[in-house]
Amino acid sequence: MNVLLASPRGFCAGVDMAIECLDETIRCVGPNIFVYHEIVHNRIVVERFQNQGVTFVDSVDDVPCGSTLVFSAHGVSPAVRQAARERKLQVIDATCPLVTKVHLEAIRYAREGYTIVLIGHSGHDEIIGTVGEAPDKIVLVESPEDVEHLQLEDRDKLACLTQTTLSVDEANTILEKLRRRYPHLESPAKEDICYATTNRQDAIKSLLKSADLLIVVGSQNSSNSRRLLEKGLAEGVQSYLVDGAEDLDSDWFADVETVVMTAGASAPESAVTECVDYLKHHFNAEFSDAVLRDESMRFPLPRELQILRGLESGDKLVSG
Ligand code: SF4
Repeated sequence: MNVLLASPRGFCAGVDMAIECLDETIRCVGPNIFVYHEIVHNRIVVERFQNQGVTFVDSVDDVPCGSTLVFSAHGVSPAVRQAARERKLQVIDATCPLVTKVHLEAIRYAREGYTIVLIGHSGHDEIIGTVGEAPDKIVLVESPEDVEHLQLEDRDKLACLTQTTLSVDEANTILEKLRRRYPHLESPAKEDICYATTNRQDAIKSLLKSADLLIVVGSQNSSNSRRLLEKGLAEGVQSYLVDGAEDLDSDWFADVETVVMTAGASAPESAVTECVDYLKHHFNAEFSDAVLRDESMRFPLPRELQILRGLESGDKLVSG
């Protein structure tokens, strides 16, 4: 059995930053802190922090006044920020800068009187946060069929934004339909689907042509992992999404010659390594890297954390 390890795969710059942000916050203020929603959509990552004592909440009301609250990589709405202010929480904002970019575009278009068509998945943390920036101005579209049923009251000034972790192909199909119906539709100069989502989808594209099986390492609620899974299925390849080796089923690999393995942007490389070890051990599999392109993107830690770190090192100087 040959296994092609697609690259880029796994952690993106936003996830790297969010995890480092939470690690550093724990180091500075201790583990008795709260995170609004999962820091990133990955079970292994979330469990690691839970084991350290971090509490994940779905409502700011569940955070005791004056505590430290970290916002996840997916961003939050202004209402959540306001609720945190009212409870006098010390907020560390680990929102990915590429999600913030979409928020800022929504704010700008809304301020200029546009109706915004937002392509994305209802209920996803990122979409809830973005819609919260201009709830009266944003209309959510999830599929090409939704475009046909769109009833826009004000269609003169129209703009389109997208969730950062969509299928590039599906988003383009929706966008083409929108442009056919609304030729004057505007969109940002730089597209919203992020580099990491695009790279991970591109990296498996040609590999799937010769694959018998696709393994995507990632959690079920990870949007970009699910898009990778769907890509495999759309190519007619038997495809599975697994958190780690414990989810692998040996029956999947019977009569399989070529496996493509990738990982969503929130999946740790340790989970990929576990799967590699499983296939080596059980099937004597041979591995090769299939590198499409290198990634070097890095995001800085949020300013409030840098200040906290500065204060901490200052304290040490004084007390030392
Ligand atoms: S997938 Fe893209 S938008 Fe989401 S955290 Fe990673 S870099 Fe940011």
